[in-house]
Amino acid sequence: MLVSPMMQQYEDAKAACPDALLLFRMGDFYELFHEDAREAARVLGLALTSRDKGEKRTPMAGFPYHQLDAYLGKLIAAGFRVAICEQVEDAKAAKGLVRREVTRIVTAGTVTDDALLDPRTCNFLAAVLENDTQAGIAWVELSTGKFQAACFPRARLSDELARIAPAECLASEEARAPSALGEGVRLTRRPAWSFSDDIARNVLCKHFAVSTLDGFGFEDGDTLAVCAAGAVLGYLVETQKASLAHIQALARYSPGATLEIDGATRRSLEITCTLRDGARAGSLLGVIDRTVTAMGSRLLADWLANPLVAASAIDKRLDAVAELVAEPALCDVLVDHLRAVYDLERLVARVVTLRASPRDLSFVCRTLARLPQVKAKIAARHSALLTAIEGRLDLCCELRASLERALADECPLVSREGGFIRDGYSSELDGLRDLTSGGKRWIAEYQAAEAERSGIANLKVGFNKVFGYYLEVTHARGSSVPGHYIRKQTVKNAERYITPELKEHEERVLAADEQARELEYTLFCQLREEVAAHAPRLQRTAGALAELDVLVGLADLARKRGYCRPTMVEESILQIVDGRHPVLDSLIGQGAFVPNDLCCGGADGFSLLVTGPNMAGKSTFIRQVALMTLLAQMGSFVPARSATIGIADRIFARVGASDELARGQSTFMVEMTETARILNLATPRSLVILDEIGRGTSTYDGLSLAWAVVEFLHDRVGCRTLFATHYHELTQLAGVLTGLRNLNVAVREWEDDVVFLHKILPGAADKSYGIHVARLAGVPGWVLERAKQILAQLENEHLDAKGRAKLARTNSGSRANDLQLSLFAAEEHPMIEALRLLQLDETSPRAAHDWLAEWKERIRG
Ligand code: ADP
Ligand code: MG
Repeated sequence: MLVSPMMQQYEDAKAACPDALLLFRMGDFYELFHEDAREAARVLGLALTSRDKGEKRTPMAGFPYHQLDAYLGKLIAAGFRVAICEQVEDAKAAKGLVRREVTRIVTAGTVTDDALLDPRTCNFLAAVLENDTQAGIAWVELSTGKFQAACFPRARLSDELARIAPAECLASEEARAPSALGEGVRLTRRPAWSFSDDIARNVLCKHFAVSTLDGFGFEDGDTLAVCAAGAVLGYLVETQKASLAHIQALARYSPGATLEIDGATRRSLEITCTLRDGARAGSLLGVIDRTVTAMGSRLLADWLANPLVAASAIDKRLDAVAELVAEPALCDVLVDHLRAVYDLERLVARVVTLRASPRDLSFVCRTLARLPQVKAKIAARHSALLTAIEGRLDLCCELRASLERALADECPLVSREGGFIRDGYSSELDGLRDLTSGGKRWIAEYQAAEAERSGIANLKVGFNKVFGYYLEVTHARGSSVPGHYIRKQTVKNAERYITPELKEHEERVLAADEQARELEYTLFCQLREEVAAHAPRLQRTAGALAELDVLVGLADLARKRGYCRPTMVEESILQIVDGRHPVLDSLIGQGAFVPNDLCCGGADGFSLLVTGPNMAGKSTFIRQVALMTLLAQMGSFVPARSATIGIADRIFARVGASDELARGQSTFMVEMTETARILNLATPRSLVILDEIGRGTSTYDGLSLAWAVVEFLHDRVGCRTLFATHYHELTQLAGVLTGLRNLNVAVREWEDDVVFLHKILPGAADKSYGIHVARLAGVPGWVLERAKQILAQLENEHLDAKGRAKLARTNSGSRANDLQLSLFAAEEHPMIEALRLLQLDETSPRAAHDWLAEWKERIRG
């Protein structure tokens, strides 16, 4: 079959990136063909047409070029990779077919377009390489150039991926799919060789222009991490086809420096997104984020995902926050300046990858213009961190001066149309501009002169792209037109003419205009290069601005919401006075939240069991303790009147299966798997939050498991544990576990109703109030009455004479033998009752034999 040269060009481009949808630029449109067209028509709702009519129709779909951002966003969100094939020469200048090339391949993890990115969220591309015991992970944020890698024990892979939360993850096509990939992460298969040691090292050394990676701090044991990093970089080179110079270093992430939080804990504590709809609003991050720059917002998310464990590092941040809390006026000024700075991190990345616009350069300039005041404001502060930030703010004076001299006040988004270089910056440009405006002035004068000469008062000069400048005369005055006018075009009411004089000036004007535009573009490229040469200094400055923004935001949060500075200690204790749940507290309005105290560790007991009816506030209380610990370790003040917080090495939080049913996928199996991990991984320095564990199975099963889990954490691990449960029976554990204390949530009974006071009190709840809650929920009275009867009956059977559950009744000796698990005893077998009734004296040996035979049969059956 004969293929047109253009379609051949299309086929070639498509063959080079077969796994991507190809957007083929044709004039003012991007077109898709064949299967791509069908997919795009479906996803984007485009009309499916066909290109050539003949026997072999080519399905085709397309959209105007200026809608690229919108459609690209939809395609990426739908999980596609998109290759963009541009016309790479001017259609006017081209001899024959315009040259076209795939200029980049956009994927979920490599988006850099501002329109497709959430400014407040990092968009990571990761790569994973595993062996039997270890996993190497590398991750990069292309829009800023941050690049990190590390090796982890293989069992930690899923937790680390949950922490990084990449948008796209690379894995070797020969490896098993990393089982740990979360929902919504796109898995991209890469050839196995791209992960190989020598290729990876080669790619990295070449990019960073070094002969060995030693300088980055990688050790012999880090091979997997280095290979993953090489695979990431190789993928970027292949898809971006542009400079990656803003990726200036590969940092070795050191896991030991941060608090370990696993994926399940991140989810159940709703740290960065809510369980219900995955939204940022309503999560801890959403509530504490008072930053005013996108850079600050991203850094805050990073701090929250990686809380610290070294007291000195935490206190360094707390010192800075404390200093800012004490100076509200300073914060106000800083916020004003920070509001005026732009996203320097992403701007620099765009400059270096040659995607910056004149407006981007002017934003760099405006950001630099704010620095001197910011620097002056935080000079001579006490805290080491503020001082360090001040030192890192690099004014880049020469760069700012040349940008200010060169760029107009308002700059456009396109670089080739001119109009952004200030008058007086280039005498050559000024000359060309004079020519243009002089030419335009001449034309205006010419119009007046011609009108007078010919006596046609309404003679006009006009301009269009086809004919250039022309003279327009209405038909009514057609007879007065001078003989030397050359007719060019007839329109509805008028005739259009040109004259040799007009054409001569037109050429001069247009040529000067064209030259000016070209010159402006050249000047733009020079400026862009100058900014690019400052990339490392600008990146450092951007980092300092981000950090300042985070600290000022945390200070604002602390002041506005009455947070206090936590005292960080090494012992495993928690002493909180008037603690609040940071999210609920801010959602329900100031003053509405009932604050609660907590003493945990030492003589106060380290295992706390919180009982109380549903809706009393158990979950809220135990979570707020975990959230406060997290906040403190990231360097934030905490919602309490006072707090002493023993630094945790890990935080675990689990929600019982039925409590998590909302997610629609959690099962008892998942709950137990996660519980097993806690039991295996918790250390004496950990903080464990268990919410209604054991609920997802039958009552006795669940209760037994919960019982054993609490015992294990108490006896074998000895870590701080907060356990919320509606299993009343567990409160009896306080009698046998020395470090366990009961807490309950106060409720007041009021004529058969309950009022929730949300106040945590020492001691066990006296009953579970389930029936009261059922009343609140509108369960019919008949059911409530009947339930009360049944409850009374059950309580009779399971409580001993003193009203204690028979479950925890003790005799003497070791605890293991102490427990009479009467609660768990199976119901009496009917044979026992039958035996009881059997009158032996009146039973013949024959009848006794028959009776035994019958029961034996029943047992077998
Ligand atoms: P439980 O786990 O005991 O069933 P929750 O902790 O889920 O109860 O709390 C139920 C509701 O009670 C919460 O959604 C919140 O509206 C309210 N609540 C809980 N604790 C407090 C508190 N300390 N102050 C104010 N309201 C609270
Ligand atoms: Mg609860």
